[in-house]
Amino acid sequence: MAEIEREAMEYDVVIVGAGPAGLSAAIRLKQLDSDINIVVLEKGSEVGAHILSGAVLDPCGIDALIPDWKAKGAPITVPVKEDSFYMLGEAGQLRIPNFPMPPLMSNHGNYIVSMGNVCRWMAEQAEEMGVEIFPGMACSELVYGDNGEVKGVVAGEFGKNADGTPSDAYEPGMELHGKYVFLSEGVRGSLAKEVIAKYDLSAGKDPQKFGLGMKEIWEIDPAKHKEGTVTHTMGWPLGGNAGGGSFIYHLENNQVYVGFVVHLNYKNPHLFPYMEFQRFKHHPMVADLLKGGKRVAYGARAISEGGFQSMPKMVAPGVALLGCSVGMVNVPRIKGNHNAMLSGKAAAEAAFKAIQDGRSADELSAYEDEVRAGEIGKDLKKVRNVKPFWSKYGLTASLILGGFDMWTNTLGFSLFGTQAHGKNDADATEPASKHKPITYPKPDGTLSFDRLTNVAFSFTNHEESQPAHLQLKDASVPIGINLPTYAEPAQRYCPAGVYEIVDDKFVINFQNCVHCKTCDIKDPSQNINWVTPQGGDGPNYPNM
Ligand SMILES: Cc1cc2nc3c(=O)[nH]c(=O)nc-3n(C[C@H](O)[C@H](O)[C@H](O)COP(=O)(O)OP(=O)(O)OC[C@H]3O[C@@H](n4cnc5c(N)ncnc54)[C@H](O)[C@@H]3O)c2cc1C
Repeated sequence: MAEIEREAMEYDVVIVGAGPAGLSAAIRLKQLDSDINIVVLEKGSEVGAHILSGAVLDPCGIDALIPDWKAKGAPITVPVKEDSFYMLGEAGQLRIPNFPMPPLMSNHGNYIVSMGNVCRWMAEQAEEMGVEIFPGMACSELVYGDNGEVKGVVAGEFGKNADGTPSDAYEPGMELHGKYVFLSEGVRGSLAKEVIAKYDLSAGKDPQKFGLGMKEIWEIDPAKHKEGTVTHTMGWPLGGNAGGGSFIYHLENNQVYVGFVVHLNYKNPHLFPYMEFQRFKHHPMVADLLKGGKRVAYGARAISEGGFQSMPKMVAPGVALLGCSVGMVNVPRIKGNHNAMLSGKAAAEAAFKAIQDGRSADELSAYEDEVRAGEIGKDLKKVRNVKPFWSKYGLTASLILGGFDMWTNTLGFSLFGTQAHGKNDADATEPASKHKPITYPKPDGTLSFDRLTNVAFSFTNHEESQPAHLQLKDASVPIGINLPTYAEPAQRYCPAGVYEIVDDKFVINFQNCVHCKTCDIKDPSQNINWVTPQGGDGPNYPNM
């Protein structure tokens, strides 16, 4: 395409992504200076449309940001009342008592929330303070300045034909320039990935690790619903095939979040994470809960799991990475929203000070210092060895070693130093010939569902005439390398059925994509590049 002319708009801070990290940054900036000029750009059709984390929220982040959130009517109303942890076998379960668990694992004082709804509420607070928020605006490119600094983003490009040429309805979008650009795209952000590579921000750090989280919302029999109940399980059905486990959270209105996480460093390319999730619901403990109920929504999203030792450098000239674009999930607690909020607050404070001092387009190193040495770093440091232990020694040993290490870290020391993560998740995949195929039971249509039926419950939608946003670096790799060597695992790891092999051809049904980013992470040849489709496309999660 010929050089595209775009109008540019100037802001103090440009924020990409209206998740908890980006919205917290916007709110904090306005608290510090009501005249500061901020824009938040969100690829979902509305704020919350792409937010999956139906969540147990540690309120420390929102407490720090909006201390009177209760009085302001935040949708954070279901305190955790009961917290249990089970080890599952195929036919039964063993409850692990709470007393040997380190205090940091307790959910006392936390809340079961729809993070989509929390983000919608945060967006209202931000707009009331004067923040401009534009949903339906995907940021597709970074704009660099003359000295190689990040100067802004391109947002709102619409109407390309499938071959990338402009259609009659083509809109070039705009350049949004800022003194600082915040990338709060969540896990495996497409612009964050470019920034990390361009400035080599991962140098000297462990590789980032990921899980795939899948979730359904169920409306269940009121007689079985216990608002405020949190249950986590490990063990069956994954066994030794992969790390991971489930969560079951009872929110309001007889609704339950049923979720399943599979660590993406699994070796056997025959593993089918989606089918593991479906099989899990047939465990007697889960089936009893769900029988008579109905699934009302489905979604999937990768979750960052590398933690403390995998956080890349977070700043480069003109740009800062926030929240899960860095990877701030506390893995044993399965919680990252509190750290996303705290990181937004810290980035805002650093940018405010810099702008006050007349600076722009440089590195906000005060932000990075605060993340590493402050509350976020402390939270992540205590649990830094749990995931490496799990990867190296399996579930049982990691529960003992990781539990012991979390206890000693709570007291301020570790006998194990900082364990390394080893390979990235793509490289962890082994040739199919080294592993046996796994047979999965057929979904029964009541408790378990085939993938495409469930994808309809993510309400995802993509304009079909645009170029596929799942780009192959080399089109010959899926059939030439991945199929013979790895039985082309894209057919299985994608929780939305985007990838198929039909008549010996690799087909990409990008319309089904739920923006989880698993393909960008797990493809063993690292051949798939996830870029944003046009704004407003993707899932439309109701209150996930
Ligand atoms: C299954 C699952 C369960 C989880 N459970 C919990 C839990 O119980 N408690 C907890 O605290 N945490 C939980 N987490 C982790 C939590 O979801 C993350 O830590 C948190 O979402 C990170 O917030 P964020 O603002 O960094 O990113 P996100 O919440 O991912 O928000 C990023 C936003 O940016 C937008 N965006 C991305 N790229 C672009 C672009 N290029 N242009 C425009 N917009 C863009 C996205 O659409 C999205 O709205 C869970 C995660 C998963 C996957």
